[in-house]
Amino acid sequence: MEIFDLTIHELHDKLKAKEVSSVEATRAMLDRIEAVDSQVNAYITVTPEQALVEAEAADRRIAAGDIAPLTGIPMGLKDIFITKGVRTTCGSRILENFVPPYDGTAVAKLKEQGAVIVGKLNQDEFAMGSSNESSYFGPVKNPWNLECTPGGSSGGSAAAIAARTATATLGTDTGGSIRQPASHCSCVGVKPTYGRVSRYGVIAYASSLDQVGPLTRDVTDAAILLGAIAGYDPKDSTSVNTPVPDYLAGLKTGVKGLKIGLPKQYFIEGLDPDVKRAMEEAIALYKSLGAELREVSLPHTEYAVATYYLIATAEASSNLARYDGVRFGHRADEIRGLKEMYAKTRAEGFGSEVKRRIMLGTYALSSGYYDAYYVKAQKVRTLIMQDFLNAFNEVDVLLTPIAPTPPFKIGEKLADPLQMYLSDIFTIPVNLAGTCGISIPAGFSAAGLPIGLQLIGKPFGEATILSTAYAFEQETQWHLKKAPL
Ligand code: GLN
Repeated sequence: MEIFDLTIHELHDKLKAKEVSSVEATRAMLDRIEAVDSQVNAYITVTPEQALVEAEAADRRIAAGDIAPLTGIPMGLKDIFITKGVRTTCGSRILENFVPPYDGTAVAKLKEQGAVIVGKLNQDEFAMGSSNESSYFGPVKNPWNLECTPGGSSGGSAAAIAARTATATLGTDTGGSIRQPASHCSCVGVKPTYGRVSRYGVIAYASSLDQVGPLTRDVTDAAILLGAIAGYDPKDSTSVNTPVPDYLAGLKTGVKGLKIGLPKQYFIEGLDPDVKRAMEEAIALYKSLGAELREVSLPHTEYAVATYYLIATAEASSNLARYDGVRFGHRADEIRGLKEMYAKTRAEGFGSEVKRRIMLGTYALSSGYYDAYYVKAQKVRTLIMQDFLNAFNEVDVLLTPIAPTPPFKIGEKLADPLQMYLSDIFTIPVNLAGTCGISIPAGFSAAGLPIGLQLIGKPFGEATILSTAYAFEQETQWHLKKAPL
């Protein structure tokens, strides 16, 4: 076992026992990045000098007997997180040289614990995508098969876990961007309930859907990292002031008597046979552990993708209006007048997927169409939310696939945006409903590609999905398998 292979809790134990120092762990991680990241392209920016300074500070803290769960742990951040003094691009040319003056809340919380940030991770441009192919900094390769995408938009955050170039990472999930790449790279990813984690200092894509969450090697690490970042923040008016449970203490609750619902709309014709088999095996395992499984219905599921692409694009068109070349980011040269400066800056600065979304969203919000599209979508969103609340009157958690297929090839879906959008069909409804979901490793396809399992919880039911996931992890070995890199 190399240092870079360890989980947060394993490395924490070694740091605490002084078997290894944070400087050693950080050096091992930086060497690993140097050795393999040119093949994976998970990092947009690596910050070795700063990481070593932070590691030295962590070692001093540990020497003084002051060790928190994340003290000295080498971590990576999706490049959507604002970081003081470190370039933050959001995967876009328009922010290629943007260096923020402050840290967002989630990042500040990691730093307070003494976590070591080794770099900023690749992602789809402004988190718009499911394959990491829309990044201005090039696609990320899936460590399990370099010809495949790692999923997206937090593709770099998931690939870094699989490539063992970060002990743990943070991502964001607007329609599946933590869970789907976690599934495609065989790691654990949590999309917390809307309002559970502060969005302050996270570049906004679709503000009513965006949520921050952990990507980790196992469920224990996910509980540790979620506990570290969750909680009320006066700087985010949508964060909710409800106590953060001790997720770690609750992990071993077990699933005896737990009611698990299987939404019939998620087990459809056309589900990839390897994914179907993995789901059947998972269902059988939960039964054997004493859970009660039953079919439930989420009747408005078929409208979720369309609803999402109206609401998300509408919010994105508004959020991205601020990138105009005036205050920060890229500004076009050789311009005549303000109007041309806006137009040329935005034409050069944004990639084609981002432009497509801005146009779709502007259209959905335009006068004459607003009621037909945006308002209608908001109403359907309420119906989708109601579906989940009704299901949770009958069951404690829902079990579904994360994605209809195992990871796909780079380039495979680029010509057909609708195909790409449909790959998030099982994750998007959770964001629309504002509730929580987790992706955990649940097997491999015949071709050796990862398959993830989703557990969806009640609003603020993170402790339950974590303990349900933990029970599965104890009985399986999938999370221990390493990508061939
Ligand atoms: N793939 C979805 C999209 O492109 C979800 C992305 C996300 O969760 N950020 O919008």
